[in-house]
Amino acid sequence: MDNGMKELIIDETIHYVSRRTFLKTAVGAASILGAPGNPAMAAQPQAIVPTRPFGKTGIDVPILSFGGSLSTSLSTLLLRQAVKWGVTYWDTANTYMGGRSEKGMGKYFEKYPADRKRIFLVTKSHAWTTEGMSEDLNLSLERMQTDYIDLYFMHSVSSSSELTADKKAWAEKMKTEGKIRLFGFSTHSNMEECMLAASGLGWIDGIMMRYNYRLMHTDDMRSAMDKCARAGIGLTAMKSQGGGQVKTDSEIELKLAGRFMNKGFTDAQAKLKAVWEHPNIASICTEMPNMTQLMANVAAALNRRKLSAREVNLLRQYARETRSDYCTGCSAICESAVDSDIPIGDVMRYLMYARSYGDRHRAKTGFQTIPADIRSRMQGQNYNQAEQRCPQNIAIGSLMREALKELG
Ligand code: SF4
Repeated sequence: MDNGMKELIIDETIHYVSRRTFLKTAVGAASILGAPGNPAMAAQPQAIVPTRPFGKTGIDVPILSFGGSLSTSLSTLLLRQAVKWGVTYWDTANTYMGGRSEKGMGKYFEKYPADRKRIFLVTKSHAWTTEGMSEDLNLSLERMQTDYIDLYFMHSVSSSSELTADKKAWAEKMKTEGKIRLFGFSTHSNMEECMLAASGLGWIDGIMMRYNYRLMHTDDMRSAMDKCARAGIGLTAMKSQGGGQVKTDSEIELKLAGRFMNKGFTDAQAKLKAVWEHPNIASICTEMPNMTQLMANVAAALNRRKLSAREVNLLRQYARETRSDYCTGCSAICESAVDSDIPIGDVMRYLMYARSYGDRHRAKTGFQTIPADIRSRMQGQNYNQAEQRCPQNIAIGSLMREALKELG
């Protein structure tokens, strides 16, 4: 056990996050940004989130992107402020909030049409066929009141076998018609395999994958990142907080938070910083459902202080200690040990939405997409072999049964 972890686990003298320290940090963030609605702050020059090249596409994007689960009438205000702070990369999907997310962005463009050109707009299709992708794309264009998408994703690719020649031909056709500028995919499961395959194809412009302080240290992920970067593929990190399907012990979490708060930022901001340390991450896509969250993330993006080696190590040790709380999405490993079609990796992700994100609607909606016959087989399945193979030592059987109760 190295010093960082020793302190994290056994240093009983550590002070938990005090209200005073929190307020100091929050005030610091506000003074960096200029508080919205405050005339004194409004007179100051606005700080803008820095940009990075999106692979070799020739397009620069802000290092922080707006993950769009928009659903309230305040969405337009939130998006307006995001633009003012330079958060001009917006990510949505045709399924988010039952379509309300895309409609929320459409409302914004209706009110501020001149801003469309400033926004790097990303949306996704969950369709398995190119016919379905065409239908989804046309609906997205209509909902968002635009005639082009900057980057169009196949949603949630989990195997390189999904990267087929007909998808390539479809992407080229849509580019020629001017409906999309770039094409790629998002991936939550078997990310490294999908990324490696994409790096050799020549027709994938961008990938959004799960990437955080828990996933960044493996040889497979490092190699996949390097190969994609050499192939000129733009990379966006998502799920960057590393929250899992089990709520990590609150005492360990509070101690970690205290460590970073003493340095003037939160553990959530530190986790973002750890991701930005990789130069080939063009942007972090994260959900910012309110002004407080937007402000905290923008403050992290503007703060140039790098994490020290000790702080990076602290996160790494924390990841090890809480390993069995986090599914890394390597579903080819566990799913090959159970009856075919039981989507363990997806179920772990739905639990994560419910328990780490507090988004029960998204969790339940996702869970309900699993066909009824598969859900009924999940209950009686023996998961012993899957658990033995799981590199994260996850209690798969218990969690699958809990998911059936909570989300079924
Ligand atoms: S449950 Fe374990 S083996 Fe299955 S995807 Fe998650 S981490 Fe990988």
